[in-house]
Amino acid sequence: MKSIRDKSLFKNKNYIGGDWIDADSKETLTVKNPASLEILGTVPKSGKKETDRAIQAAKETFPSWRKKTAKERSNILYEWFRLILENKEDLAEIMTLEQGKPIAESRGEIVYAASYLEWFSEEAKRTYGDIIPSHRTDTRVFVSKGPIGVVATITPWNFPTAMLARKIAPALAAGNTVVSKPSELTPYSALALAVLGERAGIPKGVWNLVTGDPFAIGESLLQNKDVRKLSFTGSTKTGQYLMEKSAPTLKKLSLELGGNAPFIVFEDADMDEAIKGAMLSKYRNTGQTCICVNRFLVQDSIAEEFATRLSKEAAKLKVGSGLEPGVEQGPLISEAALKKVEAHVQDAVSQGAKILTGGKKHLLGGNFYEPTVLFPINKDMLVFKEETFGPVSSIMTFSSEEDAIAKANDTEFGLASYVYTRDISRIFRMTENLECGMVGVNEGVISSEQVPFGGVKFSGMGREGSKYGMDDYTVTKYICLGGIT
Ligand code: ADP
Repeated sequence: MKSIRDKSLFKNKNYIGGDWIDADSKETLTVKNPASLEILGTVPKSGKKETDRAIQAAKETFPSWRKKTAKERSNILYEWFRLILENKEDLAEIMTLEQGKPIAESRGEIVYAASYLEWFSEEAKRTYGDIIPSHRTDTRVFVSKGPIGVVATITPWNFPTAMLARKIAPALAAGNTVVSKPSELTPYSALALAVLGERAGIPKGVWNLVTGDPFAIGESLLQNKDVRKLSFTGSTKTGQYLMEKSAPTLKKLSLELGGNAPFIVFEDADMDEAIKGAMLSKYRNTGQTCICVNRFLVQDSIAEEFATRLSKEAAKLKVGSGLEPGVEQGPLISEAALKKVEAHVQDAVSQGAKILTGGKKHLLGGNFYEPTVLFPINKDMLVFKEETFGPVSSIMTFSSEEDAIAKANDTEFGLASYVYTRDISRIFRMTENLECGMVGVNEGVISSEQVPFGGVKFSGMGREGSKYGMDDYTVTKYICLGGIT
């Protein structure tokens, strides 16, 4: 904390109606550093009352915010983008302190988060409608895209700034007003973003941030008819709960949920590239990424070689506190996350998987776990069925293309997939047959503000980023102009 230049970025209050306020009860939640387990500070333990107030503030400011020209909103978002980059070092440090990821990854996330504000500041001006040939000679038909109203966002701890930015940027660009609930594990990154939003000129009440009890805040957001849209990133279980509870008020929904990404390597693949992509896609953020590889599917003839090479690379990763120079893998977010990883590895081993490297808690203690490789795994193991969300590579073999597709699709999830092959026809067959929202072909890093991010099946609905990302935050209105003679 000492090295944060601008201490005013480190806020411990709600941001409601443009005011920085405590919970009515003055109760607080503590926030821990997952690397040292030390308490970083507290944030208000807010609930229904504070959230209702935030919704009211958003409702009251909606008419004036939507009335601004797209360029006026765009200019504010662009200034916000610029301020985030200007404060990159401080924001990255706050993130590493509360989230644990290596500082280089935090810097990368800050730039990535800022890119959504830049992109949607541009898209704000391109929210075009249509003029449609009329079905009658005496009418003319127009279609416009407008804001929805008050939007709620609920975001997780694994990318605390980027997940928030990619929701609020399109929401605000389109002219909506917003109430956001960050994860109780990583609220400081969100609060720092609010400080910069205020400096960039976001008018009071247009964006509100409430920290505290997820259930109580959630209840207010879900029950309130004025909240017309809910955008959520997190677990499938919570997504299902939010969808069910949104039914009585019929909210428009964007749900970016869990994944179970296959990483398929065919025998004709460039092995060096496959190993490189595997390392980037698997171990980033200590494997706590919804598009992280969860299951490696490798063709029989090259599986041993792939497993050996991957475990050599994984064993080289430097594990430690994210603020230490050269560290490549930080801690897991919590003890519960560590326990889940331990349970998955034990389950796999008890069913015959071998540990090629790692396989236990790291000597550093706390929430640290060793980079791990398991080989071979099978369909009955938890590592195949569920998202491990940790630094564990679980490798399975396949015999043919049909077998690879069957295994890859043998999951209720469908977020990202990865395929390594040099056969152009196979690339098309694979990308067409994989049941998912995104495919990396000979590439392990696929996120960008310029592409549509999202899933199918139990991985949710809606797309974030790109030109498609704006659709989730707008309503289409058709206007029939009559009496044309
Ligand atoms: P994860 O397993 O990644 O922590 P969760 O779905 O539990 O995923 O959490 C993602 C976000 O959803 C967090 O901000 C969390 O506080 C929030 N959340 C969890 N349960 C609820 C709930 N019942 N109502 C509203 N928000 C919730």
